[in-house]
Amino acid sequence: MRLKDLVSVAAGIVISSVLATQDVVAQKAKRYHKVGNLKVDTGFNKQYFDDFMIPFQEFSDLHNCKITIKSKKIRTTMAARPQFLSLLLGKKNRRYVIVVNKDKSFEGVHLKHVPPAARIGLFAHELMHIRDYESRKVSGVMERGIQYLTHKGKKKVEHYTDSLTIAAGFGQQLHNWAAYVLYDSDASKEYKFYKENIYMTPACILTQIEETLPQQQTGLEL
Ligand SMILES: [Zn+2]
Repeated sequence: MRLKDLVSVAAGIVISSVLATQDVVAQKAKRYHKVGNLKVDTGFNKQYFDDFMIPFQEFSDLHNCKITIKSKKIRTTMAARPQFLSLLLGKKNRRYVIVVNKDKSFEGVHLKHVPPAARIGLFAHELMHIRDYESRKVSGVMERGIQYLTHKGKKKVEHYTDSLTIAAGFGQQLHNWAAYVLYDSDASKEYKFYKENIYMTPACILTQIEETLPQQQTGLEL
């Protein structure tokens, strides 16, 4: 009998630890849901996701990319980065992360305050970072990392990314985003100053939209 009791206690411990492990796995699995190659943090609001899909659906070259959207404490509203270790595994295995800031004390722009029309512009900009990384070899991606260490380099990368966003047809939404940050958001003066210096200004975006419009017929016939 004693041995039988011992066996049933041991079996009980094994079963409960298996169940506990399954629980942890289930919790981990629940943190993300998968949509194609996208892995999306369950905390990423449904409305944000729908807005994210507006530019994403247009960028078919990115549909095969493995992209995770997650939240973390960072020093900007959102950021798109390659997963460092995946860079060593060859281009097909590269993974990217789009991070949404979850730092409540952040003095910049919080995604939850951004109007949808501006949010789409921000999402399109982040996706253009991934298009840029995808066009580069590992050394080129590393070069981007180095450029990010200086003000001049960062400005160059962000202006280039903004110009890609305009060329991809999301100039108006990018303008909404830039104008919201500088004129309507509650961000600190320092943050607005930083944004104005690193990114394209709303006026600059409008000029570039006009320049990329197809040339109108002059009507002159020779
Ligand atoms: Zn950027």
